[in-house]
Amino acid sequence: MSKSKTSNKSGSQRPEGMLIVLSAPSGCGKTTVVERLLKRHPDWVRSISTTTRSPRSGEKDGEDYFFVDRPTFEKMRSRGELLESAMIFNHAYGTSRNFVLDSLKEGKRVILAIDVQGTRDVKQGLGGKVDLVTIFLLPPSVKVLRDRLEGRRTESPEEIDRRIERAQDEIKEASFYDHTVINQNLEETIFAIENLIQRFDNERRNSQHGVRTARKTR
Ligand code: 5GP
Repeated sequence: MSKSKTSNKSGSQRPEGMLIVLSAPSGCGKTTVVERLLKRHPDWVRSISTTTRSPRSGEKDGEDYFFVDRPTFEKMRSRGELLESAMIFNHAYGTSRNFVLDSLKEGKRVILAIDVQGTRDVKQGLGGKVDLVTIFLLPPSVKVLRDRLEGRRTESPEEIDRRIERAQDEIKEASFYDHTVINQNLEETIFAIENLIQRFDNERRNSQHGVRTARKTR
């Protein structure tokens, strides 16, 4: 596809696509937000992560995650097949390098729903080389987060406590992202994210060359 690359100032080529990294504490509604974005933008794609954790009830292999055992995950990692990986709640999670890079080359918008460690690695590896927007979804409050986690009834009380503790650590890292959005109301959250992407689009259309970086909003 000839439109899949653009030249920058130095004449080098960069993919036309856009990488949208979305992070949020567990239970903040990130999955619903991603699903809604994909429904409204059928040309956007979500990277399906690989994980060593077991499927939750209703989760499907190849749709929610690729569920693999630890040796398989380690093999993928040692072969360089993962763009980033992280250990979360004693399970390994990782993003397929080929899927992301190929989709970007095809000019697609790729959503990565990953944690803070993974976002740091992606920013370090791809920052300045691809168009990248990082967004952190915040819960309205920690109390609302706990209520949501309890309401979905997929974790034990101990697991919920661990997730709340981790959420509090993650929230401290929100300022590292280009944008933060409080997920109080789904429609407003979608509207805010779409606006951020639209603004980034406008900025990159206006700048014909040079490295484009997302402007921070709070
Ligand atoms: P869950 O097990 O609740 O689906 O996800 C737990 C955490 O893992 C969430 O914060 C989610 O964003 C993160 N996660 C899912 N896939 C990946 C991945 O490929 N890489 C990284 N770094 N985090 C991931």
